[in-house]
Amino acid sequence: MSSSVTRQTFDEVMVPTYSPTDIIPVRGQGSRWWDREDREYIDFSGGIAVNVLGHAHPAMIKALTEQAQKLWHLSNIMTNEPALKLAQRLTELTFADKVFFSNSGAEANEAAFKLARRWGNTNFGPHKSTIISFQNAFHGRTLFTVCVGGQPKYTQGFEPLPGGIRHLPFNDVAALEAAMNDTVCAVVMEPIQGEGGVLPATPAFAQAARALCDKHQALLVFDEVQTGNGHTGTLYAYEQLGVTPDVMTTAKGLGGGFPIGAMLTTSEIAKALPFGTHGSTFGGNPLACAVAGAVLDEITRPEIAANIAARSQQLQDGLRALGQRYGVFGAPRGQGLLLGAPVSDAWVGRAREISAAALKQGLWVLVAGPDTLRFAPALNLTEQDVAEGLERLDRALATLVADGKASAAA
Ligand SMILES: *Cc1c(COP(=O)(O)O)cnc(C)c1O
Repeated sequence: MSSSVTRQTFDEVMVPTYSPTDIIPVRGQGSRWWDREDREYIDFSGGIAVNVLGHAHPAMIKALTEQAQKLWHLSNIMTNEPALKLAQRLTELTFADKVFFSNSGAEANEAAFKLARRWGNTNFGPHKSTIISFQNAFHGRTLFTVCVGGQPKYTQGFEPLPGGIRHLPFNDVAALEAAMNDTVCAVVMEPIQGEGGVLPATPAFAQAARALCDKHQALLVFDEVQTGNGHTGTLYAYEQLGVTPDVMTTAKGLGGGFPIGAMLTTSEIAKALPFGTHGSTFGGNPLACAVAGAVLDEITRPEIAANIAARSQQLQDGLRALGQRYGVFGAPRGQGLLLGAPVSDAWVGRAREISAAALKQGLWVLVAGPDTLRFAPALNLTEQDVAEGLERLDRALATLVADGKASAAA
């Protein structure tokens, strides 16, 4: 059956929202996966910060297959054990008292933004509805979440757009101070802007946002869809910023590859979404919650924290050395195993060429916008994975630079 489909089939039967590579991966193990020709790739992308335990992790397979034999779906008319256990665990591990489960990051954010609006409306009145967010932010692809996101290319052509949203420059305390007033119901930010280029919020900015939200009685919403679930070295990135949000969303790595998202908040704020005000058919389904529970057990082990620190150092050292040798990109930024390397002046707009060259050498690296290489590998990738991945990147850069010199000479 599988041999009857090819990359060409994609163009024939898929809505053209994506433009996938010619490679069709068929199986994975740890931080490696193989295509139809059995070519091996090292995975420095983690499926865009999703596969926190790599591919085919035994604890995830066990959780999924055990649950698959018990109960798949009931709807939210019934609760279920995996969802209750996961929510209990998440509230133990974070600031939050309450959890709402979704199927994706966008849906978790949709829930957070709807909560913020309804919280403002219920507690203060309809005037309290402004959402402040930041340029280059990414919060998902539903209409509300692209509007709160700060990348106009994702809203163009979809007008009319929901209103009441203001975008400010990121990490600009003065701009935020000037924009805050009592109509603001929420300030929404990523602790590290992921899609926007792996740009960390400064602790001073996050702390100022916290103080300004307190002063103007607004909710501080952290979108930890990408930064969460261990990537930055702590379970959630807010732990390192000296700031506790009122609402936090997560997804991506939460299910380690099984679709699930969550919005977390306090008991008091959760009162703004009483019975019947929001919902989801699949959110909190037993399969997703069973897998996420297993993922959470694994990624909170001390060995994983130690591995994140060691592999982060190894990867950063390697990237710094390659950056210096070839002059294609500069020193990496970010935290833990969510790193970005900004391209040098000569390579502005061409990050994608570098990632394509890496793929040819059997290494999958991401970009974040046109000017940043992005690394979001599994938290359990091995020293050998990093070393070999860096060797493949070395070969890719050597080829790229040699080709550039050849075409300049021609
Ligand atoms: C990926 C991402 C989202 C969207 O998540 P989906 O699961 O694709 O809907 C939202 N916010 C951030 C910060 C993300 O990185």
